[in-house]
Amino acid sequence: MTAPRVSFEFFPPKSLEGSFRLWDTVHALAPLGPRFVSVTYGAGGTTRKLTREAVGTLYQATGLNVAAHLTCVDATRAETLAIADEFAAAGVREIVALRGDAPKGTGGFKPHPDGYSDSCALIEALAARGDFTIRVGAYPEPHPEAADNDADVAWLKRKFEAGADEAITQFFFSADTFLRFRDRCAAAGIDKPILPGILPIENWPNARRFATACGATIPTWLDNAFETAERDGRTELLATAIATELCSRLIDEGVEDLHFYTLNRPELTRDICHALGVTPKVALRDVA
Ligand code: FAD
Repeated sequence: MTAPRVSFEFFPPKSLEGSFRLWDTVHALAPLGPRFVSVTYGAGGTTRKLTREAVGTLYQATGLNVAAHLTCVDATRAETLAIADEFAAAGVREIVALRGDAPKGTGGFKPHPDGYSDSCALIEALAARGDFTIRVGAYPEPHPEAADNDADVAWLKRKFEAGADEAITQFFFSADTFLRFRDRCAAAGIDKPILPGILPIENWPNARRFATACGATIPTWLDNAFETAERDGRTELLATAIATELCSRLIDEGVEDLHFYTLNRPELTRDICHALGVTPKVALRDVA
């Protein structure tokens, strides 16, 4: 099995403790030579400033390829592009361009009166800037707002036509879910890279809640497996085995890139990467 290329998602810290945790995470995962690392943009447009600061600091301190997430929520077109320009000025030339969700309890996404109406409009504007590698979200299982089963594939095609370079999927628990989606995208004429998003399961109740909100199918065996592992104090072992098996199957099916949702917790992601043959490119003592 050829070792895959990997990338890691972080979220911006909201406290001093969170800053140390992010730094520990970066320090633990950077030696694995990620193709890029990405920093999320708070749901409902929150953490905008923190995201800006985190991507700038990460880029300057580590030299890693940093991709900044950017959403259309609660901002005018001029404000959104100004943030993109700030990223570019800080040397950050990779953006994960998203529509985003409305703040909790405010109903569905409503564009700002002077803002981008959807992700394609944002992607087109960023592509016109010419400065960025643009990645976008993709949904192997129907997005809660998808009109029908084919809507996500058709919309992803539109996003690539608008100027996206690559897509990163929502997480999923079965390799077949991704592989079927990849087939449907290929049949629709999509030939750009689609990176599977992998969620190492740090905490099953939280992951389960998140999966339910995203519309990800939860196999019954996962509930049973985590119940038993919890009883035996072996949840980390189980989580590592499950993600390693999922990734191995994807690699066997020709997947070359894996994107890990680290939740700023490096241990599981690192162990899974090691099991897949992604090992430190430099000796740990050489990492400052
Ligand atoms: P889109 O792909 O534009 O829309 C989702 C689906 O809705 C489409 O597939 C399509 O079925 C339908 N749809 C939407 N608009 C139209 C339209 N005009 N016409 C027809 N169909 C339409 N959220 C954050 O707040 N911050 C983040 O940092 C963040 N990072 C993410 C990273 C990844 C890799 C992913 C997959 C998601 C991330 N999200 C983040 C969540 C994301 O904001 C939500 O899933 C949001 O509901 C959709 O954003 P999107 O750009 O993927 O939407």
